[in-house]
Amino acid sequence: MKIGFIGLGIMGKPMSKNLIKAGYSLVVLDHHAENEAELNALGATTAETPKALAGQSDVIITMLPNSPNVQEALLGENGVIHGARHGAIVIDMSSIAPLASREMHAELAKKNIALLDAPVSGGEPKAIDGTLSVMVGGDKALFDKCYDIMKSMASSVVHTGEIGAGNVTKLANQVIVALNIAAMSEALTLATKAGVSPELVYQAIRGGLAGSTVLDAKAPMVLDRNFKPGFRIDLHIKDLMNALDTSHEIGAQLPLTAAVMEMMQALRSDGLGKADHSALACYYEKLTNVEVAR
Ligand code: NAD
Repeated sequence: MKIGFIGLGIMGKPMSKNLIKAGYSLVVLDHHAENEAELNALGATTAETPKALAGQSDVIITMLPNSPNVQEALLGENGVIHGARHGAIVIDMSSIAPLASREMHAELAKKNIALLDAPVSGGEPKAIDGTLSVMVGGDKALFDKCYDIMKSMASSVVHTGEIGAGNVTKLANQVIVALNIAAMSEALTLATKAGVSPELVYQAIRGGLAGSTVLDAKAPMVLDRNFKPGFRIDLHIKDLMNALDTSHEIGAQLPLTAAVMEMMQALRSDGLGKADHSALACYYEKLTNVEVAR
């Protein structure tokens, strides 16, 4: 089985390395040659275009920033659609708009190319460990056929519905993560302003009801003043934008998401778009004139 992998960034690089570890043969493509070179050193070959990559692949995986990037790679002038073999399968693991997944599914189906939308959660550490959570939309028989491939990068792979359902699930995930980081930032700023060590507050509450995976991943980063991504504010803005657009399309309301979106926009204006999303703490620090540190 030959897998084509497009997008070797923070996530795609370790994910593709885990596919090689699992015994799959890979052909890769990224805009940055140095990313491709790392995979070449492990035995992967490189293709010049998505079209050329698709011509050599049984399954094509995309791990790109947002809907337009995936649309270009799959449907663009030199896209996968122009080179894929009859009956090829595309697994898009990027976090994109559910509507875009549905539209691409319809276009690819005209050429007998199947698509699953299969975004992930867990960030770079879990991508490296191969313990991501994958949430998958699409045909159930196709999901079953691709399960082992996805499982070689993940500890959890769950089918959540028809095409687009994977990205709806991911939007729900991103809303919960954003609101958690904002709540943590608000609380640790309060503690600091009140003269209580935020480090001790974190240690005291992490085992109780306020404890969470988000708190354990992000509070130490804030306390260490380490805002190296991780998950960039720019990408989280993209996810919240997709969540708000989707909610408006279907008549759902996301008042808390809208508020956190404005905080992230303010941080981007302050030059922090490339910082980790734990830098939401900096928004509160600016308001209160304190620094949350050890
Ligand atoms: P990234 O910016 O680090 O990587 C994207 C890669 O895609 C880059 O290397 C870029 O060169 C390449 N690229 C862009 N367009 C391309 C094209 N048309 N052809 C070939 N290569 C192209 O982003 P990332 O952090 O790896 O995120 C990828 C996706 O995974 C995003 O949708 C993101 O929201 C999602 N995600 C990220 C994390 C995280 O913690 N970083 C966690 C879960 C999900």
